[in-house]
Amino acid sequence: MPTASPGRRVAIVGGGLAGIAAAIRLVEAGYKPIVIESRKMLGGRATSIVDPRTGELIDNCQHVVLGCCTNLIDLYDRLDVLDKIQWHRTLYWTHANREIDRVRAAPLPAPFHLLPSFARMRLLSRAERREVRRVMWRIIRLGGPGRLTWSGLTFGEFLDHCKQSDSVTRKFWNVIITSACNLDVKRVGAAYAIQVFQEGFLANRWSYTMGLPTVPLVALYEPAKDLLRANGGEVCLGTSAKAIAFDGRGVTGVVTADGFIEAAAVVSAVPFDRLDKLVSNAMRTSDTRLQSLGRLEVSPILGVHLWFEHTIMDLPHLILADHDVQWLFNKGTDELGRQHIHAVISAADEWMGLTEGQIVERVVRDVHRALPRAVGMQPTQVRCIKERRATFAATPGSESYRPSAAPGYAGGEGIGNLFLAGDWCDTGWPATMEGAVRSGYAAAAALSSVGGVIEDIPPGYIARRLGLR
Ligand SMILES: Cc1cc2nc3c(=O)[nH]c(=O)nc-3n(C[C@H](O)[C@H](O)[C@H](O)COP(=O)(O)OP(=O)(O)OC[C@H]3O[C@@H](n4cnc5c(N)ncnc54)[C@H](O)[C@@H]3O)c2cc1C
Repeated sequence: MPTASPGRRVAIVGGGLAGIAAAIRLVEAGYKPIVIESRKMLGGRATSIVDPRTGELIDNCQHVVLGCCTNLIDLYDRLDVLDKIQWHRTLYWTHANREIDRVRAAPLPAPFHLLPSFARMRLLSRAERREVRRVMWRIIRLGGPGRLTWSGLTFGEFLDHCKQSDSVTRKFWNVIITSACNLDVKRVGAAYAIQVFQEGFLANRWSYTMGLPTVPLVALYEPAKDLLRANGGEVCLGTSAKAIAFDGRGVTGVVTADGFIEAAAVVSAVPFDRLDKLVSNAMRTSDTRLQSLGRLEVSPILGVHLWFEHTIMDLPHLILADHDVQWLFNKGTDELGRQHIHAVISAADEWMGLTEGQIVERVVRDVHRALPRAVGMQPTQVRCIKERRATFAATPGSESYRPSAAPGYAGGEGIGNLFLAGDWCDTGWPATMEGAVRSGYAAAAALSSVGGVIEDIPPGYIARRLGLR
């Protein structure tokens, strides 16, 4: 049952992807959402910043969307920005000897479409490719329910169980999983990692395809402001929520630095640690969803922007196996011929204490190792962005602390007009833009009883017959 009737004001705290997604679906359902966002831009952890040194607009970090991200793609479509995403069907890998492996779907049905590419990867020896094939087969046969039986263990433990050698784990499994889940195989929950392979690489031929925005991230969210305002919604940028107001029975609005915003319902779309600061003890007592907020951990990501005098990279991206850096992205060349390269290091705990100089030295060493044309060249401009609290840590068992959008979590009573969204909620996905949008759609549906999460792409016929989903 909806807890606020259409036409009523709903306060959404947080203008990241979860908040934007919830707001768009609520305005479509006839509600009047008011998005309260402390920063001057929408997009949260997936947005752009103005580099204070140069005044240039740069993204906090390269963000990648995969073909399996049905809800994020749906949101881009609703915002009419899908044409700003460029899709890449070939994934380029490199390793110590600088050879490039191209991973691309062959004209074979899922789950076999990537098999020929994997079979040709020079990154792996013949014996190592056999090891990978064995585990892929195991992952296919486990299916969705089967992966949950591994929930209490790490993916590293799963790989040990499958007798994977250290070199295959390091060069192949760890490279994919660290980027996808922002934790290395020794820490990430096996169920999360198995899901990445099942849904991202095996279920159907399109899912692995990688989308990269062709505009700054913040430009993807500009239409949201117009769409909301044109339909009775509001967007308050630069407004910080201080508390969610509670009268003992339900929430009544949001206390902000600029005054009280009364609302018939509240959607929290802030990270779990921020929500913990917005709720009172009385709210925690009344709602079991608010009682485990302190139990989730975080994992950092480091993004390094580098500008070189000349073009050093023609490929759109490069996955670096057996390097410190995991990805290099080609961000284009400006009118002066300078190339902008972006390096990404996920699960970057050991980098957080380094100075910019130390970071750049290590990153440039990898750029030289991977790109022959870069040898001898130093960047003319750099910008390191450390995101210490980039994502929640998808460790084994973390799913039990991820709350649902609507009250009634774990059988407990809850605050009927408080809805939770954010990539850390119980979407079943690791912390991703897709998870954030799913959570926003779920919160809007729980509040309004219309809409809901967009379904996954159906698995291919053979993948389904093999039990993948
Ligand atoms: C460096 C980095 C790289 C990443 N790469 C990828 C990738 O390639 N692909 C991918 O899918 N995902 C990636 N992610 C993860 C992805 O960015 C997040 O999962 C997603 O953006 C989270 O969205 P959200 O709306 O749940 O939270 P957030 O984006 O954190 O949004 C919460 C919003 O709430 C606001 N807020 C907080 N407190 C208050 C308050 N008191 N009052 C008002 N507003 C408040 C914040 O300013 C923020 O805008 C990456 C994340 C990082 C940090």
